[in-house]
Amino acid sequence: MDRTELKQKICAAIDQHREEIIALGEDIFRHPEMGYKETRTATKICEEFDKLGFSYQSGLALTGVMAKLKGGESKVNVAVMGELDAIIAPQQEFADPVTGAAHSCGHNAQIAAMVGVGYGLKYSGVLQELSGDVTLIAIPAEEYAEIEYRSQLKKEGKITFLGGKQEFIKLGLFDDVDMVVMHHLTVPSLLENGGLAQAGGAYNGFTGKLVRYIGKEAHAGGAPHLGINALNAAQIGLAAVNANRETFQDKDHIRVHPIITKGGDLVNVVPADVRIETYVRGSSVSAILDASAKVNRAFKAGADAVGAQCEITEIPGYMPVEPDKNLQQLLYENYCALLGEENVLFDHGMMGGSTDLGDLSALMPVIQGRTTGAAGISHNSNYSIADKEMSYIVSSKALAMTVVDLLCDGAREALRVKEEFRPIMTKEQYLREWGQLQ
Ligand SMILES: [Zn+2]
Ligand SMILES: [Zn+2]
Repeated sequence: MDRTELKQKICAAIDQHREEIIALGEDIFRHPEMGYKETRTATKICEEFDKLGFSYQSGLALTGVMAKLKGGESKVNVAVMGELDAIIAPQQEFADPVTGAAHSCGHNAQIAAMVGVGYGLKYSGVLQELSGDVTLIAIPAEEYAEIEYRSQLKKEGKITFLGGKQEFIKLGLFDDVDMVVMHHLTVPSLLENGGLAQAGGAYNGFTGKLVRYIGKEAHAGGAPHLGINALNAAQIGLAAVNANRETFQDKDHIRVHPIITKGGDLVNVVPADVRIETYVRGSSVSAILDASAKVNRAFKAGADAVGAQCEITEIPGYMPVEPDKNLQQLLYENYCALLGEENVLFDHGMMGGSTDLGDLSALMPVIQGRTTGAAGISHNSNYSIADKEMSYIVSSKALAMTVVDLLCDGAREALRVKEEFRPIMTKEQYLREWGQLQ
C-alpha cells in the first residue's frame, strides 16, 4: 500500500469508530480529575485498550498508561501522547463538585485523539505495513497546579518531579521513544485569521523561586538599632533585581515578576521574616539560567546591605518548548489535507505560557498541533466543547496521518527526523542540571 492508501484506510477506520472516540472524549470531559489524581480517567483508557486488545502498563508515575504497538518492522518508535489532567474552574458546567476540577484546557480531546489513533491502527490493518512501533501514552499532570499536594507526594517519595512528563523522563519511560506527536484543543480566538488548526510553535519556560529574608526582631520605635530589618533587605533586593533588567535581551523574552507574600508581623516590631515569590521566564534554558543567577545575586545583595540572611528555594519549572520543524511540517500538511490550506496556520510564534512538553523537547523531537473545537476562554469556567468533529475526529486523523508519514516507506521520514534532531541536552544532563532545581 502506498502512503495515500494507508492514510485513507486509517482515516476510514477512525470514521467507523467515531461514536466510541467521541463518547470517550465526552465522558472524560464530564469527569475531570487533577494531575497525579487521574485514576478514573486512567481506568477508562485501560478499558479502551482492553477492548482494542492492546497490552499496556498502567500506574506509571501514579496514573500514566502506556501501550506499545508493534509495527511490521521496529526501526523507530513514535509516541502519540495525550494528557490526563484537568484544571480548577469550579463554575464550569461539568466541574467536579468536590474538587472543582474542570477540563477547561481540553485535555480530554488529547486523550480521545490518542485513543482514536489506536482505533485507526487497530481496525485499518495499517500497523503491519509500518516500519516502526507506535506507543500510545496517557500522561499525568501537565498543568502546573496544586503545588502543595504534589510537594507532599514528593516528600512521601511517590514522585520526584511536579510535572508528569518530567517524571516519565526520570523513570526512563521515554528511553525507547524516539519522537512524540500530540494534539491540543484550542478556542477559535486563539488562532489568527479565523484558522481552524495550527501545526505548533514555541513556548516560554520558567523557573520559580521562594525567597526568605531573615532579620532580627527588635522594638521598632524604642530600639531599632538592635534589630536587622528584613523588609529593608527585601526592598534593596527588589531594587537590585530591577537594576539587572537592562541586561535582559529582547530575544530571550525574560520576565521576572516578584511579589512580596509576607512583609512583617507587627508594625512596632522590626520585620525579621519577609518573603518573596517570583518566576523567571525565558525562551531558552541558557537565558533562564543566566537571568536566574542574576536574580539570586540581586536578592542576596539586599541581605548583604543590612546584614540580614537570604534563603532562596528554587521551585520546579518547565523548560521552553522547541517544536521540531520536520514534525511540524508533516502535521501542517495533514491539517491542510483535512481542512484546506487556507484554514491552517503553520506556527503560532512564541507563546507566553509554559508546558512540561518543553522538558521533553530538549531531549527528543516533539510537536503539539492545535485544532479549534472548544468555545469560551481557556482555563475559564465558560469553556466548553463546541465542535466534536474538530475536537475528537479531525485531531485523531491528523495524528494518525502523521504517524503514517513517519513510518511508511521503511520509516524514512521518522529516521530523517531523528537524524536531523539536535538535542539541547542529554537525559543525564537534564536530570543533573535542570532536575537539581527541583
Ligand atoms: Zn492548560
Ligand atoms: Zn493544556
